[in-house]
Amino acid sequence: MGDRVGRSTLFGIPLQQTWSYQNSGDYAPIYYLHTDAPLYYYSFTDAYIARLYEKLTPEQQARFDPMITGFNPADMYAVDHIRRVLTLFPGIFTGIGEFSIHKEFVSSKVAGNIASLTNSALDRIFEFCAETGLVAILHNDIDMPFAKPDTEPVYLTQTKDVLRRHPKATIIWAHMGHGRVVQPTRSTASADSDQRSLEFVQIIENMLTDPSLSHVYFDISWDEVAKYILETPKSLQRSADILNRFPDRFLFGTDNVAPKDPETHFRVFEMYAPLWDMLPPEANEKVRKGNYERLFNEARRKVRAWENANLASD
Ligand SMILES: [Zn+2]
Repeated sequence: MGDRVGRSTLFGIPLQQTWSYQNSGDYAPIYYLHTDAPLYYYSFTDAYIARLYEKLTPEQQARFDPMITGFNPADMYAVDHIRRVLTLFPGIFTGIGEFSIHKEFVSSKVAGNIASLTNSALDRIFEFCAETGLVAILHNDIDMPFAKPDTEPVYLTQTKDVLRRHPKATIIWAHMGHGRVVQPTRSTASADSDQRSLEFVQIIENMLTDPSLSHVYFDISWDEVAKYILETPKSLQRSADILNRFPDRFLFGTDNVAPKDPETHFRVFEMYAPLWDMLPPEANEKVRKGNYERLFNEARRKVRAWENANLASD
């Protein structure tokens, strides 16, 4: 991070790839597309992150916001895991996620019930976020890969519905619902990049102006998202315009997984250089740092207060 990065969330990947001997024999998969064997929730990841965080100096700790990810959002008991992590490791965690409901190629590989936006287990999780102040980072694809054109994105309505049910929770929608293959929506099979970006920005604008979604924030992390924003001069201009109109509602992130060196870590930020150039200083600062600091400072304060109140009464 050096002196180029101020603060960052810190979390483990919740899903562990099974090494199934029946499936791949001595070949040990290190990626979820290396095998057909299922993924499972590896809750130990939260304890691991907590222990690493405890070893940091106070100055280093102040730059990180550890997040809880080792829960199964299709399990009504998920919320009990989150509560247990807070009480077992007080003073550490600021939020939950990034956790996934619909994620291309991943959701269908998870052992057990498939996560759903309509599952009460998810409502219980968001209710607990509202109670504690934990920030939630939700990965939820807006659509299926290779979705049919000329229909609304499959998960858009369900996404808005679940978000609306939890107005007191602070929820960040990771990558604004994009995936590696899941594209900005398109109303017709022949829609070109400009048309797609127009339609997608319209969807986001509708959410931004909807008072029942004022607790929802939009994350532009991932080189896959940058790719669409930077795709054409018009898509870039439209994206800069919407960020400018709602500078308090967008957050930059990298979506990097264990970057090996600073160059890798800064690459997504640098990809966005044309976007940064188009934002005035105030909006620029908010999207890069200010909104993060505002949301996560507030979450730290609330979660510490919840921990104090609940640990004292135990
Ligand atoms: Zn994601």
